[in-house]
Amino acid sequence: MNRAVLVTGGSRGIGAAIARAFAERGERVAVHYRDDGRAAEAVRGSLAGDGHLAVRADLTDPEAVRAMVDAAADGLGGLDVLVNNAGIYVDHPVLGTSYEEWQEAWRATLGVNLTGAANVTWCAVRHMMAASGPPAEAISADGGRSRDERTGRWIGARTGGRNDARTGARTGGRIVNVGSRGAFRGEPTHPAYGASKAGLHAFGQSLAVALAPHGITVASVAPGYVATDMTAQELATPAGHAIRAQSPFNRVATPQEVAAAVVYLASPEAAWSSGAVLDLNGASYLR
Ligand code: NDP
Repeated sequence: MNRAVLVTGGSRGIGAAIARAFAERGERVAVHYRDDGRAAEAVRGSLAGDGHLAVRADLTDPEAVRAMVDAAADGLGGLDVLVNNAGIYVDHPVLGTSYEEWQEAWRATLGVNLTGAANVTWCAVRHMMAASGPPAEAISADGGRSRDERTGRWIGARTGGRNDARTGARTGGRIVNVGSRGAFRGEPTHPAYGASKAGLHAFGQSLAVALAPHGITVASVAPGYVATDMTAQELATPAGHAIRAQSPFNRVATPQEVAAAVVYLASPEAAWSSGAVLDLNGASYLR
């Protein structure tokens, strides 16, 4: 479709698979990373098609987030799709950490997984509004526009929006959050992680309601274990057998399986999935 897509944490793991899946469908991708510029460049270079770029920000720094989202939109010529994928998984069992370690784990985890995603979204929505006009019934006397607080520019003009080249359907912005099964099943040794993902799912549902009048949809995926750097160590221990056995398929997910669902939720056809939290856990946890 040649839309402009920003994938946070695109430098490896699930984010890299998501970036590749979008590029294979003809989209232009901004691969976001925090530290590993080399890995991000390698992912960018591996993407099908052209027009891709790598953008950097520590998601715990709100000004860096703003600059990164603006750089992605400038480089791609707008922003149609945001995937909030970046996340951290910090071990901090309640009975095994000092009070100081506990504070730090909660601060760091919520800072990236929840507040970081919320800040990226705030910035990205401003760019999406510039491209996605509201539906006729939502257009107010001023043409459905509002002013960007920072630039003073009018955004969300009624003449905006894009048509899907295949179906011809009007399509607005798409936001997909990468949440977690841990929000529902619990994370006994990583409680801030479970809480951050439950918060991310709830954040997505609130924004699904808030942004629907502007044609922007918001959905989340909730994967169980996926074979990436984040889980490699744990999956390599004897505990890995038990983790695989959580699923009747006796394995964990591949990053590509998560990417396929994200691409679907970001597609024009998935508008009615807005507000959904999609389980991707190989029947390992049925809620
Ligand atoms: P990885 O650990 O492989 O990659 C994490 C990504 O997030 C990297 O690109 C990293 O950038 C980026 N990142 C981490 N901290 C920051 C920060 N402060 N600012 C900006 N970027 C940051 O993770 P996965 O691919 O395994 O996971 C991706 C998402 O999927 C996460 O949200 C995770 O919680 C979720 N998930 C993962 C599961 C799993 O089993 N793997 C299961 C369920 C959900 P850099 O490389 O530059 O550090």
